[in-house]
Amino acid sequence: MSKIGFIGIGNMGAPMARNLIKAGHSVTAFDLSEAALSAIAKDGVDIASSVENAVSGADAVLTMLPAGTHVRDVYFGKLFDHAAQQALLIDCSTIDVDTARAVHGAAVAKGFAMVDAPVSGGVGGAAAGTLTFMVGGDDAAFSRAKPLLEVMGKTIVHCGGAGNGQAAKICNNMMLGIQMSSVAEAFVLADKLGLDAQKLFDVASTASGQCWSLTTYCPVPGPVPTSPANRNYEPGFATALMLKDMNLALAAAKSAGVDVQVAEKATALYAAFAEAGGNAKDFSGLITYIRKDSA
Ligand code: NAD
Repeated sequence: MSKIGFIGIGNMGAPMARNLIKAGHSVTAFDLSEAALSAIAKDGVDIASSVENAVSGADAVLTMLPAGTHVRDVYFGKLFDHAAQQALLIDCSTIDVDTARAVHGAAVAKGFAMVDAPVSGGVGGAAAGTLTFMVGGDDAAFSRAKPLLEVMGKTIVHCGGAGNGQAAKICNNMMLGIQMSSVAEAFVLADKLGLDAQKLFDVASTASGQCWSLTTYCPVPGPVPTSPANRNYEPGFATALMLKDMNLALAAAKSAGVDVQVAEKATALYAAFAEAGGNAKDFSGLITYIRKDSA
């Protein structure tokens, strides 16, 4: 069983750390938030007073932080200087590809094995241990990371070299964000044309309009009882996070010289919805903004 240092035990990190404990690993965690630390202390996780205390002597270090800037702060701030040379570094945060590759390059230059391993599956998947991990890094680092990731996830995909896990995550979520905006527009249009939402669902869910945003996260209440639309768009997947991922996709597209006009338009819609009060609502709540705008 491994000794694991875990930095960032928020909504996702805490349930992931709990699953590592359940599997018999020892976990020492650090977070800037006292509330996050005290919430996990009762679950068998040792609490560290700093990044250096959490990582020193660990076989593996996991980070689950909000964005690239936090990942840079933690790795270049203390982590690289205090982790044992043989420690495997696993960054599960969703961040921009350029930062992921820069941190990875620095890790390798300092002699560490590292993977980027962002996740899909949300807080529910983190609690159930059914996350999908998209992993970037060399074969040897992937082989070392896989058994730990399998404790927290069901599907572990090796996407290629450094940063490719982030690339997969960003491309997937760009598709998701665009899909949801198109499904929302279609339901608003159907309503204006006098077509019942359930009828559109019955047709599109078995026809070529079929997609996850329709069949799992249907943005109108009724057709999919478990979708956030049935609970006043409580997340779920918050608009703030969708907007963050869309902006990461736009930044990656700019850096790679790819024209992503549809993604740009969808991002502007999420930004307007967030600005109008939808930031903490599920991203499928975008339909309420489109409906108002079309009234
Ligand atoms: P969160 O804000 O709940 O947790 C992040 C934690 O990091 C916080 O507790 C914060 O205090 C801590 N932190 C920030 N800077 C720190 C530092 N310098 N040192 C130590 N701790 C620090 O966020 P989350 O929902 O757990 O998401 C984490 C990552 O996972 C994000 O990149 C997010 O995009 C991604 N993600 C989230 C979901 C989701 O549904 N919540 C799904 C997939 C991916």
